[in-house]
Amino acid sequence: MTFAESVTAQNDAIKKHDTATGNRFAIAYIRAAETLISIGKDGVDEFATLLEDGRADVRTMAASYLLPYRMNAALRILEESGRGTGITALGAMMTIRRWKEIKAPNHIKGFIKNILSKVVDRAGSYSFYYQVICKCAGTRFRLLKSLKHALKAVCENCGNEITVYDVSCYSTASKGLNNSDAISVVHPKGQQFYKIYAIYEYSILNTGDTFDPDDITWCQVFIEDDQGNRVRIFDGGTT
Ligand SMILES: [Zn+2]
Repeated sequence: MTFAESVTAQNDAIKKHDTATGNRFAIAYIRAAETLISIGKDGVDEFATLLEDGRADVRTMAASYLLPYRMNAALRILEESGRGTGITALGAMMTIRRWKEIKAPNHIKGFIKNILSKVVDRAGSYSFYYQVICKCAGTRFRLLKSLKHALKAVCENCGNEITVYDVSCYSTASKGLNNSDAISVVHPKGQQFYKIYAIYEYSILNTGDTFDPDDITWCQVFIEDDQGNRVRIFDGGTT
């Protein structure tokens, strides 16, 4: 059963107040979404065709999975659906709210699990501490480090590439990670693939300022091998 078929079948079941059947179809579309995304770029491209689907429930559910990959298109669909009524509109609004609550740069949203929030570690700033987790649920990555101040995690499991730090997203000063000038980071104890943790730091806002997730002031990145040896491999500002 495809993603789209499972989404529509679940909604039909919900309309009949048949929760058990609905949940079975939910498991089916979650699995379909994860399978497509774990393929990498080709899977995401194929999945993204559903953003154009004629059925609002299918578009909306696809958008909620594609937020980290097709942020602008996905947000547009979710906002449009959120203005409607019923369960699809409610789901869209919840997804937008959760997305906006994540205090991390847009490029990493959807790939992180919050560990600690609001650690005020320096005067006038607060930080959010995250573990990087792939959409395929993989937790082991290889980091590519570029001379141009960018870090990209490559999932050991599915090859998905996740931007962990990219100064070009925070300022217009320099260009982003180009794989040709990137070097692979090896854990000091020798492991090629490891867990990744990142801390994003923000200035405390003045009253009336709007929070901008890409306006980070500092970033630290740590890698951890299977024995729990965690080392900091990046510590830098955005200017
Ligand atoms: Zn993965």
